Amino acid sequence: MRPCWAEIRTRALEENFRFLAHLAAPHAEVLAMVKGNAYGHSLTLCAPAAVRGGARWLGVTSVEEGIAARSLCPGARVLVLSGFASGQAAAALQFQLTPIAWELWQLDELEAAARAAGAAPGSVPVHLEIDTGMSRQGVLPGELSAIFTRFAPASPLRLEAVMTHLFAADEADGQATQQQLARMDEVLGRISAAGLFAEWLNVGNSAALLSGLARPLAEMAARHGMKAMLRPGLALYGAVPEFDPGFNAGAEPPSLAAARAALQPVLEWKSKVVGVRSVPAGAVVGYNGTFVATEPMRLALVAVGYADGLVRSLGSRFHLLVAGERAPLVGRISMDQSIIDVTEIAGVQAGDEVILIGAQGGETLTAHDHARATGTIPWEVFTRIGARVTRTAV
Ligand SMILES: *Cc1c(COP(=O)(O)O)cnc(C)c1O
Repeated sequence: MRPCWAEIRTRALEENFRFLAHLAAPHAEVLAMVKGNAYGHSLTLCAPAAVRGGARWLGVTSVEEGIAARSLCPGARVLVLSGFASGQAAAALQFQLTPIAWELWQLDELEAAARAAGAAPGSVPVHLEIDTGMSRQGVLPGELSAIFTRFAPASPLRLEAVMTHLFAADEADGQATQQQLARMDEVLGRISAAGLFAEWLNVGNSAALLSGLARPLAEMAARHGMKAMLRPGLALYGAVPEFDPGFNAGAEPPSLAAARAALQPVLEWKSKVVGVRSVPAGAVVGYNGTFVATEPMRLALVAVGYADGLVRSLGSRFHLLVAGERAPLVGRISMDQSIIDVTEIAGVQAGDEVILIGAQGGETLTAHDHARATGTIPWEVFTRIGARVTRTAV
């Protein structure tokens, strides 16, 4: 096997789930976000681990991912976050997936598929997404009345949850979140005024949970006779989202401090040294010779390139770990290889393990480090780890 792989600590994921569920209790249920192939960590390994940790609900991207999750976790509720594509309603029902819906055509296709399958009134649960300000998915509050008619008593569809996504739970002033919650509160009032009842108020990501929103969400849910559910993703994989420095007037909320101490990284991304060579001063390194050895150097070839998800622009401006030390990347990153400078690191040889994300000796490299160096976020770092990087449970 080409030595470029990701080790997935499924036990750490189980424990992270238990920690998050404990943090939310007794206020809210926790859904385990396993969308995007479990944030690049492998749905196959992570969905069952979340269920072993106690998750009753899993959140996936698509019907395709939902079908995979269903075969891995026959007893779990599976929520399809991005809705379903036209023509997929029957498959969603067949595999007992619960779609998030917000478009009339989605409800109509679902109702038709449910009737075709002979579903009894109120037997097909739907989570209705409300656009409380993100302008991504969700019904605008002004367009709710048309939606209500789809949940008439004779319909096979049942409004199981009302859902929204907080888009700025990590921001310092918290105003956007307050405004979104106020809009949601109003929508919930209109839903009960229309004679509809939903069991769950499904709101909030990792930042919402870690910032202590479980209790206020539960209070809002209770006012409408509902229960609260949160949907953390990143935290489940052991990465704590970064909050604005001025969040909560600079005082770290207790739940955030507890999360920092308790959450364990789930993924380590590794490769190996293929060979080591000594080059004289003046040797050019990699495509276009963007790096020229300024002195005699020792260079190690590593089996990882941009096709594995190591961002090409990191060439000559980031480091990997080998022998417990930081080894600078030199020259351009190739599709399948990269070169590190091990001149100052004694004894590096072919077969040595190289860390892209993880810990070695006293050093660590995190998804946050990659994200800072490439101007992105840890979510993207995890999800762009290439499909050919084998994920193995350890
Ligand atoms: C991805 C996602 C989440 C989880 O977000 P994290 O920041 O990773 O915790 C929650 N809800 C929705 C709708 C999402 O798309």
